[in-house]
Amino acid sequence: MKLQNQIAIITGASSGIGKSVAKCLALEGAKVVINYPFEKTKDDAQAVLDEIKQAGGDGMICQCDVSKEDEVQNMFAQTIQQYGTVDILVNNAGIQVDSPFEKMTLSQWNAVIGVNLTGQFLCAREAIKEFLRRGVDETKSVAAGKIIHMSSVHQIIPWAGHANYATSKGGINMLMQTLSQEFAPKKIRINSICPGAIQTPINTDAWSTPEALNNLMKLIPYKRIGQPEDIGKAAVWLASDDSDYVNGTSLFVDGGMTLFPGFTTNG
Ligand code: NAD
Repeated sequence: MKLQNQIAIITGASSGIGKSVAKCLALEGAKVVINYPFEKTKDDAQAVLDEIKQAGGDGMICQCDVSKEDEVQNMFAQTIQQYGTVDILVNNAGIQVDSPFEKMTLSQWNAVIGVNLTGQFLCAREAIKEFLRRGVDETKSVAAGKIIHMSSVHQIIPWAGHANYATSKGGINMLMQTLSQEFAPKKIRINSICPGAIQTPINTDAWSTPEALNNLMKLIPYKRIGQPEDIGKAAVWLASDDSDYVNGTSLFVDGGMTLFPGFTTNG
């Protein structure tokens, strides 16, 4: 198993991509901390953990709103108390609060930046503190720690009506690259996954009717919507020593969405 005994925190893991990442990492031997934000998502987080345990994996659930500094610190403290350290952070939690720009309220802007960008900053900072404290544990990995930021194709594709979301993802890219430059000498590997359209609760409008799905396919050269497992498998690779020479990279898992399919001229 590629991640035997490694401790992985996955934020926003009670649904969608985070859930699949947690399951995929656990199948490779990682002990997974399944983060969920609010009491109402606790049962979903527990169901993910139950599924993982039934498949022979292990982990715990942990409530934390990633936009709150004290809650993030508490999540890392609980994890370290339970397992002794953290080896992998998957900064996955994210929200969309869409609005035409001229009508976007400050609270809509702050909500998205708070979870998607500040949340990734807060979690990355706590992870890096622990990676620096521990250093390399050669029984587990040749790296001193790994962070995977869940970005989006919208770190490079502008997205009208979603200025807060697209800005948060553009910011994640520069956060990821800067942290990677800063901490590669300490053997800490930091990369991003940029999903295209993945079938999860965040984008139901894009796939829940045949018409919507048909329109979506015009944006995807590979002509299928992505599944959470497409991202889970990529996360396993980026978290494992198989990708040890990969630093500061954005891995686009998007069926070709970033290939400008509107420019196709041969039919
Ligand atoms: P999702 O809505 O199923 O997952 C988002 C998760 O974040 C949920 O589990 C939610 O409970 C959690 N969350 C929300 N606010 C939180 C907070 N304050 N603290 C902790 N957790 C919080 O949608 P998803 O598609 O699985 O999204 C996961 C990530 O993937 C997001 O960062 C999203 O931007 C990114 N992404 C998704 C797609 C897609 O097509 N689905 C495409 C590109 C990027």
